[in-house]
Amino acid sequence: MSRSQSDENIRRELNTLTEVSKTLITHADLPELLDAVMERIINTFTPAEFGVVFIWYPQENVFRPHGICGKGIQNPQILKEMRLRAGEAITGKVYECGKAMLLNSPAEIAEIQSNINPNNLEKFVLTFGGESPHSMVAAQLCADDHKYGVLFLGSLKSSTTFSNRDLKFVETLADLIALVVDRVRLETESTETNVARQAELLRAEAMATLSHELRTPMASIKGYSTALLLEDISWPKEKEQEFLRLIDEECDNLQTMINDILTSSLLDVGQLSLELEPVRLERLTQEVVREMQHHTEIHHLVVDFPDDFPIVNADPLRIKQVIRNIIDNAIKYSPTGGLVMVRGEVRLNDIVISISDQGVGISREDLIPLFDKYFRVKSPTGYHVPGTGLGLPVARAIVEAHSGRIWAESNVGEGTALFFSIPSDGLNPAIDNE
Ligand code: ADP
Repeated sequence: MSRSQSDENIRRELNTLTEVSKTLITHADLPELLDAVMERIINTFTPAEFGVVFIWYPQENVFRPHGICGKGIQNPQILKEMRLRAGEAITGKVYECGKAMLLNSPAEIAEIQSNINPNNLEKFVLTFGGESPHSMVAAQLCADDHKYGVLFLGSLKSSTTFSNRDLKFVETLADLIALVVDRVRLETESTETNVARQAELLRAEAMATLSHELRTPMASIKGYSTALLLEDISWPKEKEQEFLRLIDEECDNLQTMINDILTSSLLDVGQLSLELEPVRLERLTQEVVREMQHHTEIHHLVVDFPDDFPIVNADPLRIKQVIRNIIDNAIKYSPTGGLVMVRGEVRLNDIVISISDQGVGISREDLIPLFDKYFRVKSPTGYHVPGTGLGLPVARAIVEAHSGRIWAESNVGEGTALFFSIPSDGLNPAIDNE
């Protein structure tokens, strides 16, 4: 090789290295980076007419092609679907032995590609419109003892072949690409670890708050039952009844909280299932209202449904949970009492249940995250109302599982109305579901 030819080679290789290095400092995702790297290689490194980076996906046990680029590639989409198995073709062999390979004759190429799966072979041939490469090189992508895949370059013209010097240079390019893959892997791992750590922290905080909230009704139950059990004191009948009523009430509060925590965990793992049946919502609402009216003397609970209210297909226990959660809130957040109105409305394609109170109300900003998990409005008075912040998100999930919608309207100091809808499928009110 003449001096000027050697200088020209060095200049050409430096140019390719500079161009490739420029892409390496950008922060795109891996497929985008590999596209950019290969485009620069094919544009600046003359013997390479086309190139592909095969990345090894250990979970699937296959190499997937990335950065497909080149003049001879007529159908990159077909090549994208190629999945090479371990040890298959030049890619599989170079990945296994770690030694770069240069093939310059049709016989050598045919031999090394002899174990290629017929499906992959067909894709390879179709990609190049029936032509076969005359020369190819492949080098392993390896950084820090991590094997990532193989850089594969080829030429279709018989006049263009790779030299041994090119092979060395392709190894350098493969090392550079491996460094990029390694950097992206480390970045992804650290982001995933951070996200997991953040989620764990939030979960721990939520658990601490929930345990604290559960302790409030527990403390009341313990206090009243201990008082009733005191041997030295004989409580008047009236007092005894009052303590028992308070214990009963706090047990119901605990039950509501625990039900919401359990439902929320079921939702987290996608296991909320509905048992649909024809349901008379007015009757079901009356049951919940009767049960909840026992717990309050300062609130007046009223149910108002039209006579022609249809029967809906719903899960009665889950819908009870929704109505109970909303009425529970209407009572909890109306500390001075008042009217709690539960209305049923029939619309063209669905029914709407509304529950309105005359309580503290909710500001416009707090209405936005109202249905978010663990959201609770901070009380301006500092007065603490026990709760989990799960009642409304659970209600929303149940309503949405019924293909319905839930929403709220409110004015601070005037009261709140919660609405939810369920599609009505024209079931006849004459059906009895007792
Ligand atoms: P919680 O267990 O805290 O009641 P929810 O998810 O049921 O949880 O409600 C979330 C928050 O929305 C409550 O903490 C409360 O601040 C507010 N909220 C819900 N319903 C009402 C209402 N009827 N009136 C005023 N504020 C309400």
